[in-house]
Amino acid sequence: MSGLRVCSKCKVQKPVEAFGKNKSRSDGLRHYCKVCACAAAADYRARNPDKSRLAAAAYRAEHPDKVQAANKAWREAHPERQRASSTAWRGANADKVRADHLAWSAANREKRRRWNKIWYENNRDRIIAKTVAWTRANPGKHNAATKLRKQILKQHTPVWADTQAIEVVYVKAAEWGFDVDHVVPLRGKTVCGLHVWANLQLLDRKLNRSKSNRVWPDMP
Ligand SMILES: [Zn+2]
Repeated sequence: MSGLRVCSKCKVQKPVEAFGKNKSRSDGLRHYCKVCACAAAADYRARNPDKSRLAAAAYRAEHPDKVQAANKAWREAHPERQRASSTAWRGANADKVRADHLAWSAANREKRRRWNKIWYENNRDRIIAKTVAWTRANPGKHNAATKLRKQILKQHTPVWADTQAIEVVYVKAAEWGFDVDHVVPLRGKTVCGLHVWANLQLLDRKLNRSKSNRVWPDMP
């Protein structure tokens, strides 16, 4: 198949590659060029919205593989439009996105923890800046959280605790740039630790944040 032919719609002579295929015709080509065929199809869809919707649904049901492959090819050919359209979709379906994310998180707790840790390490400066900004913008909430933390410490401090020794640990930690950590977490799932000198240790900041309330060295 080679040469030129005239489109019966726009009457322009075009190379045969500019025409779609039609097996039922003797020359195997459609009589409209691709541009005209496309415009005619769009025009038909505009005039028959219900019919074309049904036809499209029927086609999708009959050729799921073809549709999937075509969609994939389109996404790969238009990455920026694909990104824009998925951003728009997430914006319009925020509740569903949130619910899906929560369900996934609940089903993949270890994975989520690992990813959170990597994410924290990669975005440390940004997270700290955001936290500082949030603290400034929400002094009331920040004070409440600080108060709660103090209250929890107080609840876990027995009368016999050496408060001076505890204080020294905190002063030294601040001096050396460490976090003070409770070896047995104060609010562990199975056991609660005490806010006493013997239950304190200095930890590298990153390590403490990744530890959360799960494990300690002699965990039963
Ligand atoms: Zn044409």
